[in-house]
Amino acid sequence: MKKGTLFVVSGPSGCGKGTILHEVLQNPNLYYSVSATTREMRPGEVDGVNYQFLTNEAFEELIANDGILEYAQYCNHYYGTPKQPVEDHLAKGQDVILEIEVVGAMKIREKCPDAVFLFIMPPSLSELERRLRKRGTEEEAVVQERVAQASREIGCAAKYDYIVVNGELSQAIADVNAILRAESCKTEKCQTLIEEVLGK
Ligand code: 5GP
Repeated sequence: MKKGTLFVVSGPSGCGKGTILHEVLQNPNLYYSVSATTREMRPGEVDGVNYQFLTNEAFEELIANDGILEYAQYCNHYYGTPKQPVEDHLAKGQDVILEIEVVGAMKIREKCPDAVFLFIMPPSLSELERRLRKRGTEEEAVVQERVAQASREIGCAAKYDYIVVNGELSQAIADVNAILRAESCKTEKCQTLIEEVLGK
């Protein structure tokens, strides 16, 4: 059976990648990998849906047991991708989406050379700051920390395969869907199809 494709999506906090992915994930052949984190739960978030919320000890145990595909520390908290569900879904032929920051993404680049990397870019840093404030879930100091983090992350965008600017939301969603679609039509993904059509 054809193995699924691993898509890695990064972009600064507040760039709208969650909103874009919510729409893109209407596609039932896509599996969204639920990350583990040690950060506080935000209002409206659900344990096991948005993240698996863990204590530091539990997270470090996962690392020690080789249960994490990649992890990084971001704004003083651990964030990581549980390994087993990703491997299981790829083996079943399902495409998998990881929504992770740049350090973890580059670790995946080394471990999984076939993965496809997308960077979601805000139209500008000032627009990103406005969106973070509007979200209102973080204190001012955290907003400032996230804007500084954003400029560092945008500095890594050139290492990705695709860049999508989230200025107009519907256009950004269409761009991500187009990238996913084009990747699924790549020749290397269609070897068995050629043989099937030729009756081999
Ligand atoms: P937030 O706290 O805003 O939900 O996420 C902060 C950052 O952590 C975002 O850039 C998000 O993409 C990233 N992140 C979420 N899950 C993971 C993960 O499993 N691994 C890594 N490396 N980063 C993650």
